[in-house]
Amino acid sequence: MLVDVHCHVDLYPDLEDVITRAKRFGVKGIVAVSMDIKSMEEILKIQNQYSNYIFASLGLHPEACSKISEKDLIKALDLIKNNSEKLVAVGEIGLDHYFVKNREFYPWQEKIFREMLDLSQKLGLPIILHTKGAEKVVFKILGEYDFKAVLIHWYTGPRDLIEIGIKRGYYFSITPAIAYSKKVQYLAERVSLEYLLTESDGPVEYNKIRGEPKDCLAIVKKIAEIKGHGEDRIKNKLFENAISLFNLKTQIS
Ligand SMILES: [Zn+2]
Repeated sequence: MLVDVHCHVDLYPDLEDVITRAKRFGVKGIVAVSMDIKSMEEILKIQNQYSNYIFASLGLHPEACSKISEKDLIKALDLIKNNSEKLVAVGEIGLDHYFVKNREFYPWQEKIFREMLDLSQKLGLPIILHTKGAEKVVFKILGEYDFKAVLIHWYTGPRDLIEIGIKRGYYFSITPAIAYSKKVQYLAERVSLEYLLTESDGPVEYNKIRGEPKDCLAIVKKIAEIKGHGEDRIKNKLFENAISLFNLKTQIS
């Protein structure tokens, strides 16, 4: 039993096939994350279509900041507020200082991020975070809040921050990059099973192969190898983690 806790489902032209394959590989649910207003609206529709299988997480992605207007931010916050009962999290939100090279956008990124954090805290929803190249700043900002349910997606930042994340009880989700990335392998080794999850971040490509929720099975196999535990034990524990983090008990069978 697997859950893909971070997938851009609205970006697959062949979503139906992707889901069929995911089910065949034992994936019991997918958390759909958004990038911008368009994908927020799209994800709400998709969630309706695949209820009890695709779960919505809405937020504005830091890489989209240059195309987000003040008006969009207000609209996004309203979309989250008005649909909060249907959401399992707020995300993908955070900061990006790696793909976004133009520093002029950093204060705007941070403003969007803080608005999203304030709202998630008010609604009591977990947050799904993007931290690429801005890990230090994200951890510093999070230190000003008191979130109980924090999921850091595809972490590749400094090792000392992993220790802070562990102390604060953050969850970390592992992508298919675990097949080749030493940083991801280290993360899977260092973080205890209680705080690990699987994600495809699909349709992002890994070694030129498109990521899909079905890849969560290969991720579990690799974690089992790294941790030296049986595959079933890893699967069950990570499944439990996803259920408790996103409160999916009554929705996933
Ligand atoms: Zn993503």
